[in-house]
Order: sequence, then C-alpha cells, then structure tokens
Amino acid sequence: MIVVSACLLGFNCRYDGENRPDEELLSSTFRKLFVPICPEQIGGLPTPRTPSEISGGDGLDVLEGRSRIIDISGRDVTNCFLRGANEAMRLVELLEISTAIMKEKSPSCGVCHIKKNASILRGSGVTSALFAKKGIRVISSDRIKAELETEIYRL
Ligand code: SF4
Repeated sequence: MIVVSACLLGFNCRYDGENRPDEELLSSTFRKLFVPICPEQIGGLPTPRTPSEISGGDGLDVLEGRSRIIDISGRDVTNCFLRGANEAMRLVELLEISTAIMKEKSPSCGVCHIKKNASILRGSGVTSALFAKKGIRVISSDRIKAELETEIYRL
C-alpha cells in the first residue's frame, strides 16, 4: 500500500474545501493500493479552514520545536499540525506502509517545497518531514508520472 495525500485523490479536504485531483493517480490500475490521508483533518482542523504557514524554516523545524505554524488570522495551530503528522505516522506504522505520495507546497504534505507569503521556498511540510525522518520513502506530487510505476514494482 501507498499513503497518498487525500486531496490528490479527489477528496475535498483542502483549506478551501476543494481538491487537487491527479489524473495519473486516479487512472492508475494500482489505485486500490492507495490509502488516502489528510493530516490537517486528522489533526483536528475543520474543512474549510483558515490557511496556515510555517513561520520560519520548514516542517522539520516545527517537529524539532524551532518553528511554529500560524494561520492567517494569527492563531497558532502548531499542535494540530503535529497531531496530524503523528496520527498519519500511526496509520503508516499500523499498515506497515513504506511509501507516501504527498502534495507539494503544503505546510503538511510538501516534499521539496512549501508556500510562504505567496513565494515558494525549499523545504518540506510537517507530515512529510516526519515520514522522511522515520524512513518512509516520500514521493512529491510533482514527480508522480516519473516515479509511480517504478515504485509500484518495488512493493
Ligand atoms: S493537508 Fe495534505 S492532504 Fe490535506 S488538503 Fe493539505 S495537501 Fe491535501
């Protein structure tokens, strides 16, 4: 099985109540292997919700206590993001999953990039950082076409 950011599979879990379906994933003959997960929802945030950004650094800095996550109203939502990452990790361990496909640029799911102040910065989201720290192979949503088939045959 492969954990996948739920918005990539068409679930309306984004902060704006929308989704970002990825046709490569949705049309894959292996889609029954996908386990959708939205770390922000399972961390206790509502949908729709106020968008948030990592205040400094990236998700690894949040995990290690050097940074916080603040929504655009100024509310500190770090604990929800940390809870979501830990709950996602619990699912991955329960199902013995070793690969995740995560939505790029999100403060939870970003793999190589996160969005801040309308700019795209290098760095990962909180859940992807935790997955990588625990040895899970994390694939960016920008590289699905290039990596999905190879990954399926590795399983
Ligand atoms: S937290 Fe991840 S799965 Fe949930 S909406 Fe954001 S990018 Fe998609």
